[in-house]
Amino acid sequence: MATMRNAYLDALGIDRWVPRSAPADSPAEIAAAATPAPAVVPELRSPVAPRSPAPPAEPLAPAGDWPTLRERVAACVACDLCKTRTQTVFGVGNTQAQWLVIGEAPGAEEDRQGEPFVGRAGQLLNAMLMAIGLPRETVFIANILKCRPPGNRDPRPEEVSRCLPFLTQQVALLKPKIILVVGRIAAQTLLATDAPLARLRGKLHTFGDAETPLVVTYHPAYLLRTPADKRKAWEDLKFARGAFARVTGGGNA
Ligand code: URA
Repeated sequence: MATMRNAYLDALGIDRWVPRSAPADSPAEIAAAATPAPAVVPELRSPVAPRSPAPPAEPLAPAGDWPTLRERVAACVACDLCKTRTQTVFGVGNTQAQWLVIGEAPGAEEDRQGEPFVGRAGQLLNAMLMAIGLPRETVFIANILKCRPPGNRDPRPEEVSRCLPFLTQQVALLKPKIILVVGRIAAQTLLATDAPLARLRGKLHTFGDAETPLVVTYHPAYLLRTPADKRKAWEDLKFARGAFARVTGGGNA
């Protein structure tokens, strides 16, 4: 088990430190995986500077259950992305999951397969989750947008405002214990801020009326381009794991 986790830490590019007095696969090794420890911003529940002006999310009657919501997403023609998509990408995973992972929007491969995070970035996301003991199938993974923006351009404000109610309903149905947001665009959207990612990492935010704890980290596609920041992502993941443990009184997935 620990050997497998080492493989995921290796995929994250994290040097593993093996204490002389402890067996190689001990929890001490995992805990010390990212040495030397970079400075971690202490947990703060500070509000971030609000974005202005934020497009209002369109009201949407609650779907009430997963199949109805999935059908509504599949039939959505609320913005022009419906004209260029191959299919909608609803989200995937365990509808009883305690962890919700939120990305930005489907890419080419996701548009083809109808599932989020199935390309190279998805493989790294899987490794990131496994590094904190979360097999992909134990979490729920969704995006801000359910349709691929052509050429993988950034989501437009009107697309976000039309699509965000679907995600809000996914959160309401799932009732996750924690939300892990990957990437600047998803983080800024959900926190309604223009603050840079560097200011959003390392803090415990909340989302929605239920004030679900929310932690921000780098997008795996960014980490593929900038492997030097994998170490900081590992700090974020440990921070999220710690926040989850506090919220749930010590449990895992
Ligand atoms: N990037 C995302 O943000 N989401 C995906 O589903 C794939 C790539």
